[in-house]
Amino acid sequence: MNTDDPIQFFDSNQKPEDDMDVFDVKIPANGDTLSFCFGTIGCQATLTDMVVPAWQLCDAIVSDTLERLSKKDIQVSCKAKCSKCCSYIVPSIAPEAFVIDNHVASLVKDRKEPVLRNTLAAIEKIQANNFAAAAPGEDKSLENTLSDLSGWYQSLEIVCPFLIDQQCAIYDKRPLVCRELLTISDASTCSKETDETPGSVKLPVSIAEALIMTCDKLDETAGGIIPLPLIIPWCQSNAQLAQKTWPAKKLVKMFVESIDESITKIIKAEDI
Ligand code: SF4
Repeated sequence: MNTDDPIQFFDSNQKPEDDMDVFDVKIPANGDTLSFCFGTIGCQATLTDMVVPAWQLCDAIVSDTLERLSKKDIQVSCKAKCSKCCSYIVPSIAPEAFVIDNHVASLVKDRKEPVLRNTLAAIEKIQANNFAAAAPGEDKSLENTLSDLSGWYQSLEIVCPFLIDQQCAIYDKRPLVCRELLTISDASTCSKETDETPGSVKLPVSIAEALIMTCDKLDETAGGIIPLPLIIPWCQSNAQLAQKTWPAKKLVKMFVESIDESITKIIKAEDI
């Protein structure tokens, strides 16, 4: 962690500096409560300053969940070199897109070139196959539209541009949706060749959803999600958004409120 970062994540074993504003995060977990916090120093922050703390929080929740599953002898099928979920349309959230784009720009030539080649090939396929033409127009529910979009994307046979030699080339910088997906059914159920629905672990909160909600409240152009093959052109077109700043305290307060909203939504959905 860089101690100059305007927003910092702390788990229960770490202590924020005395001069920080501290925002507690409480996550319910099977009758327990996981306690974390974010600390901010009184300065301005960009959307991208929320990304690493959000990833750290997500990883801490996933790690706790894996520990609980292991105690119950429930195995997670996700492992290195299994890339079945990387053939679906995978979104990143706007701030994550900027961080991933910067990371790709910093890669050495040998690692960057395959990513850029894959990205270009994916964009060409997307441009050559119009989604509206593939799913012509009667009035459809959001669920049906998303299902059509997913089917259209799979028909293009696009694999995530960051998947190189069956491994994620940006593993430490992968987006929240990749971090939050844990499959407990056989890995074959994640394959796009099957109609089976994979059994996935329900986390007590979606940090991806909380980050989307936060961005949406802050700036109407920041709440979108960007499919991974489109990150590089999207970041080029939205460079100004990456420079925009807000008081760090405001960003964190809204993020923590959005985390609470996501927890409440999940609890309500479980009660139905
Ligand atoms: S970012 Fe990595 S884990 Fe996520 S879909 Fe792409 S290759 Fe797979």
